[in-house]
This record gives sequence, C-alpha cells and structure tokens, in this order.
Amino acid sequence: MDQAKTTSAASPTVGLVSLGCPKALVDSEDIVSRLRAEGYRLVSSYDQADLVVVNTCGFIDAAKAESLETIGEALAENGKVLVTGCMGAKPEDITSIHPKVLGVSGPHQADAVLSSVHQHLPRPHDPRLDLVPPGGLKLTPRHYAYLKISEGCNHKCSFCIIPDMRGKLRSRPLGMVLREAEQLVERGVRELLVISQDTSAYGVDLGYQADYWRGREVETRMVDLAAALGELGAWVRLHYVYPYPHVDRVIGLMQAGTILPYLDIPFQHASQRILKAMRRPAAAENTLRRIERWRDECPQLTLRSTFIVGFPGETEADFRELLDWLEAAQLDRVGCFTYSPVEGARANRLEDPVPEQLKQERQERFMAVQAEISARRLQQRVGNTETVLIDEVESDHAVARSRSDAPEIDGLVIIDGCTDRQPGDRIEVHIHGADQHDLFATPVRKKELSGHGPL
Ligand code: SF4
Repeated sequence: MDQAKTTSAASPTVGLVSLGCPKALVDSEDIVSRLRAEGYRLVSSYDQADLVVVNTCGFIDAAKAESLETIGEALAENGKVLVTGCMGAKPEDITSIHPKVLGVSGPHQADAVLSSVHQHLPRPHDPRLDLVPPGGLKLTPRHYAYLKISEGCNHKCSFCIIPDMRGKLRSRPLGMVLREAEQLVERGVRELLVISQDTSAYGVDLGYQADYWRGREVETRMVDLAAALGELGAWVRLHYVYPYPHVDRVIGLMQAGTILPYLDIPFQHASQRILKAMRRPAAAENTLRRIERWRDECPQLTLRSTFIVGFPGETEADFRELLDWLEAAQLDRVGCFTYSPVEGARANRLEDPVPEQLKQERQERFMAVQAEISARRLQQRVGNTETVLIDEVESDHAVARSRSDAPEIDGLVIIDGCTDRQPGDRIEVHIHGADQHDLFATPVRKKELSGHGPL
C-alpha cells in the first residue's frame, strides 16, 4: 500500500492499493481525497487499516491475475476488503474467487466506494469538519425533504432540452441514497419526496448495481429503493414515474402501506399521434388498462399528472381523444400547460403550430373537465377518517396534507382548531367538506396520537 498517514488516532483508518493505469490512479486519488476530507485516516499497511480498498486493473490477463492476487493478500492480511476499478465491471469474476469481499464497484465509481466505506466503517464525526448537518442543508421545511436519486435523462422528448443540458441518466448508488434518507429522517424529516428526471429508469445506467445497506444486499433499482425507504418510518412519495410494466411492482408496496399510494406520472397527452411526435417514454403503453389494474390492486392509489395542450400538429380530434382519456382515467390531481417552444427543442421544427388563442381555449376546456373530476373525487372522501401531516399551524386552524397531496403542487387539508400541534405531526382527522382542490376536516380527538402519529 502506498498512502500517507496523518491525524488523530481515534479516526477510522483506510488503506488503498492502487493498481493499473493513470486513469485508475486518478480514481484512487479521488477516493482517498474524499475519504480524507470526511475525516478518515489513510494508512500504508494492512495491519494499521480498519478497511482496505483495492482499485483493480482488468486490462490484460496478467493485470487481472495481479488484481486477484492483491485482493487475496488484502483479505488474508486484513479481512475487510472493498474492490473497485476495471475488474469490478464484472463482479462475478471477483466474487467467484473471493466471495468474502465486502463489496465490488466498477471504474469511476468513487460515489459507490464512499458509500460502501460508510456502510462498513461509519464516517467519523468531527465538529470542525461537519459544518453542515448529515444529509446537507435543506431549503424545505424541517419535516419534509426532496431526495434526488439521479441526474440527467436517457429520453429525447421533442419539447425538452434537459438531456442536452444535464446529459444522460446518472443514478446515485442505492446505498448512498438510503444513507442520505436515513440521515434526513434522523433530523426530523417525516416525508421523503423522491425526485429525478425519470424515477422509473433509476439504476438502468448502473446495470442495477448491487449495493449494501443495513448489512444486506440491495439493487440500485426503483422497487428496492421504494421498499428500503419504506422501512424508515417516513412517508415516501414517488415523483416523475413513467408507466412502464415494471412500475407494477411498486403498487404492491403501496397497497401494503410501505410507501404512500401516490404516483406522479407526467402523461403529457393521450393521443398516440401526439405522444409519438412528443417522443414520450412508454408512448405505446395502454395507460388506461394499466391504471385500471393498479387501482384494482390498490384502490386508494392517488394519481397526479401533467399535460401539454396545443402541441404542434394537435388537431381537435387529438384534443378530444385527450379529454375522453381524462374522463376515463379519472386522475386525482392534474396540471395542464399550453405548449410553449423552448429554445433548442426539436419540437420547434414541427409543422402546424397551434394558434395561441386556440391553445388557451383548449387549456380552459381541459381544466373545466378536470375540475369536475377532481371535485367529484374529493367529494367521495367526505366522511372518511384519514391521516394527515401538518405543514403549518395558524391562530385558529392548521394546514395539512393527506397521503394524496404532495407539497406545493397538490391540495391541502384545512383542519379546524388543532392549534396545539406542530408542523411535522401526523394526526387523524375526520373529513367534513371538500371543494375542487382542498379538503376540510376536524381532528379526531378521541384518538389523540402522540409524537408523529401513524403512517
Ligand atoms: S421530458 Fe422527456 S427528455 Fe425531458 S427530462 Fe422528462 S423524460 Fe427526459
């Protein structure tokens, strides 16, 4: 091993063996720099190290053999070994020979290495280093937080320039996401809002890479993410999901109460012709049939969506198809935008732009249809007893949200009185009224709930 030693004897110690080319060396530098910045002590012998990272090379057979030999040596001399680098691209080549390694990640995966180190050798606390709380500073109220699971997008929707601006999908390894979520919950967060550009694609870019959390293996994919987040005791809400077949697997978790029965799916349109022109993901899926099946499995499912009207080439027939779809789908929460060209978007080159006034008219017609649906669906909840999460407490009422309401974009539950509660408390309420957007409720006093209340 070839790394320096420094600082206090109490810090956890990591040794790193770097094999291979300069690119691998740069990855090693990144890993040791970040470990050092987090307060780990870097050591140069196996017996001083609490854990050893081996950065492997898999370029030619001789390099692979040297990598495997080094892993074997580290296991024999130290026992706690993480493997990363080029050979990690095929983890089975390593684990079939050295099944006792704690984890394997591929090249350029410093995040995954750091995440595994945290898992097996918890990060030291140093008040001089920890100027921000674990999980970082948040601009949201203390009781809810957005949890970003990936950056970028692999799709090419014709009206969108996000893939050009932010690049292809880059998922954060699941262990890292879960540790951030744990820290947030420890800090008092009662609701985690999972966000990305395409939550249903989570982990595709990493080949659904295995990771470690709470001593077990998890895969970097949406269903594992949802199941693990559901163990933390906070509400978990999924945003920006596309209606792919594998999404069916999270509906069972919703029905079981593991995560909130809520899906935010930006359908954008219903006409196959327009969806094709928009180049939307899952454009060919039969979304109505899928929604029906989801509701059969989880009747309390809330569906939120957004739509664009007045997309280039949208005819009256396309628009009517959309309204018919809306009537059939009976979505709970819906936003509707008129199409507006974004500089650099491919849709700007499409023919037959819809005149501005017609776009506005269609938006109004769309919202009128949805307002009735929304009012009807909220009315069906009058008389229910539901759990809500309090956002604000005013002088004579509290403002809360139900399982069906995401902050900022959905409706509210206005609770009479309830001034003795705190933001972040979960309480049960009796719903006695509804309008097109919001519900009105009274607290269920006889079931007064302590602390943060039920899920
Ligand atoms: S609109 Fe389409 S291209 Fe843009 S971020 Fe969403 S899925 Fe990706």
